[in-house]
Amino acid sequence: MSIPQAKMELRPLGNTGLKVSSIGFGASPLGSVFGPVAEVDAVATVREAFRQGINFFDTSPYYGGTLSEKMLGKGLKALQVPRSDYIVATKCGRYEEGFDFSAERVTKSIDESLERLQLDYVDILHCHDIEFGSLDQIVSETIPALQKLKQDGKTRFIGITGLPLDIFTYVLDRVPPGTVDVILSYCHYGVNDSTLVDLVPYLKGKGVGVISASPLAMGLLTEQGGPEWHPASPELKTACKAAAAHCKSKGKKITKLALQYSLANKEISSVLVGMSSVSQVEENVAAVKELEDLGMDQETLSEVEAILEPVKNQTWPSGVDQK
Ligand code: NAD
Repeated sequence: MSIPQAKMELRPLGNTGLKVSSIGFGASPLGSVFGPVAEVDAVATVREAFRQGINFFDTSPYYGGTLSEKMLGKGLKALQVPRSDYIVATKCGRYEEGFDFSAERVTKSIDESLERLQLDYVDILHCHDIEFGSLDQIVSETIPALQKLKQDGKTRFIGITGLPLDIFTYVLDRVPPGTVDVILSYCHYGVNDSTLVDLVPYLKGKGVGVISASPLAMGLLTEQGGPEWHPASPELKTACKAAAAHCKSKGKKITKLALQYSLANKEISSVLVGMSSVSQVEENVAAVKELEDLGMDQETLSEVEAILEPVKNQTWPSGVDQK
């Protein structure tokens, strides 16, 4: 059985040969981390995303303590389409019980993930939030273990993820070219923080694919605001709330504006947005199409940028001291 799929812009991902949809499906909400999501809704959300042309799905054993991987696995299986029709990324090293980037743990981790996802291989296996481990261990032990998994056919490509941008240069400067295929950065390419842009020429020079996540700043740039656990400062949260309220007062949606801002930069291969319902998929895909047809709403963007100016590029601490 095949599902009729709408056309979506596909962008090359570094030197991998993969072509990922400009908007990628962030599956962390399927782990109920932003609020409960029933299995039937999770499966319907994945189906709608695929139907609308999204071919790239991102998860982790950490999201919802393995729940996100299980839900995504069910959603993908229910599609009943050839495995080569979609691209799946999962991660290793970060778990509900803590961090462990040892070769032994990550080698076991992929088998557990594949079982939950009901897959024989993933397309990308990322080391998840490496600033919480020793970066030297990532270079000397974790990445070599992932290379072995690549040789064994359990993952096609290797990635690293995290919040501080300097972790990427630290690792990429210390591994042979072509070892790390992609990086996943989050909360650094959106209306309130666009600092990832400075790193893009370096990444392109190394042939490393660029994935950017959390265009809605992990929920801050939505009308309902971020979750309880959101690490941003009260000042940043208040400014984002004011920006959302401003858009609402004009009959506009902050989510659309924020997503379009991230998507407009074509050097970023895919923008991962977390989605937990069919209506969110519909809304976000409509934002992609509208951007293609009409471009950005420059007037509202300028107003929102002015509201966010005092907190522009403000981030929060993440990780352990590497010294
Ligand atoms: P996000 O900025 O994409 O925001 C997600 C929140 O916005 C969720 O509550 C979602 O339900 C809501 N939302 C989405 N579309 C909406 C709409 N149209 N209207 C109203 N609300 C809407 O943050 P995120 O989910 O954290 O990031 C996206 C994905 O990127 C994650 O699911 C994950 O797959 C990945 N990610 C990875 C890392 C990492 O590797 N370290 C970190 C962050 C995110």
